[in-house]
Amino acid sequence: MAVTGSPELLVVMGASATSDQTEHVLARLAEQGIDARVQRGREATVIGLIGDREQLALLPLEGFPGVESVVPILKPYKLVARESAPDPTVIEVDGRRVGDGWFGLIAGPCSVETRAQTLETARAVAAAGATWLRGGAFKPRTSPYAFQGIGVEGLDILREAKAETGLPIVTELMDPRHVEAVLDAADVIQIGARNSQNFLLLAEVGRTDKPVLLKRGASTSVEELLMAAEYVAKEGNDRIILCERGIKTFETATRYTLDLGAVAALKMETHLPVIVDPSHPAGRRDLVLPLARAAVAVGADGIIVETHPRPEEALSDAAQQIPSAEFGAFADEIRAFVALMGKQIG
Ligand code: PEP
Ligand code: MN
Repeated sequence: MAVTGSPELLVVMGASATSDQTEHVLARLAEQGIDARVQRGREATVIGLIGDREQLALLPLEGFPGVESVVPILKPYKLVARESAPDPTVIEVDGRRVGDGWFGLIAGPCSVETRAQTLETARAVAAAGATWLRGGAFKPRTSPYAFQGIGVEGLDILREAKAETGLPIVTELMDPRHVEAVLDAADVIQIGARNSQNFLLLAEVGRTDKPVLLKRGASTSVEELLMAAEYVAKEGNDRIILCERGIKTFETATRYTLDLGAVAALKMETHLPVIVDPSHPAGRRDLVLPLARAAVAVGADGIIVETHPRPEEALSDAAQQIPSAEFGAFADEIRAFVALMGKQIG
């Protein structure tokens, strides 16, 4: 069997495996046209396989008699892996950039509630020199009794906010049935933490031509987040921004535990921009600025922050939203930290 290159998958035959069992595995691999290299040791026999991911996934090798374990050598993602792109990815909308030295300052209300509330916030965010405007028209709420967003009416308001301020719009898509409506208003499609592993939705946005802001699920590992991004990229859309927004731990001092280590690790693993949402892990507004500063320091490519003209009236996430009147000062503070890192707001 002609084998070139190094193996992508190792099949370990147990110490008690018979040579017939090894031959059976080799015969099935040959039938599938998979190259194999056998190494017979004193304790175990190891078969190294070479083939593409999809081909190797077709054989349930771990179920074969005599097989002790199957050890993947390849990472489970390739399109989003650092090695697959020569340079870091920059996501540009209307000349406003995120990634590779361009720090994205993305801000806006948690939810689009009313026209006045959204336009007032958008003006404050634009005046502060932000990159993009965020705001949810469709809201993924833990309780079915909580405010669910105003839906398509909110999308009209976001369009108006963009027309007035020129700020590109980031808004969440929850349901594949809303793709067309959301695409009509969104410059960047947000996939929320709760849909981080909704693979059909990920594939759906992978077939669009809009950038995707993919949030990490509260119980999703770094590797799972990268595989979720791979679902989008596999469909042809590689304009993806990853977002760390806090994970569930035993800690109750903050709403979620902001996993800054994940940001550093992601930056090493992928060419995609990685941003931080300091608002949801903080859960209270006085923690947002310190977490945002930490995000800049760890090397994040941006932050997405919630701000509301009158947080005490907010229909969602009231405790963590920064009053819009204070957002300019917040942005100035962040801008100084961004400059220290040798970057600029995109
Ligand atoms: C949000 O951005 O308002 C939101 C719902 O975030 P997450 O999906 O991270 O909870
Ligand atoms: Mn929110």
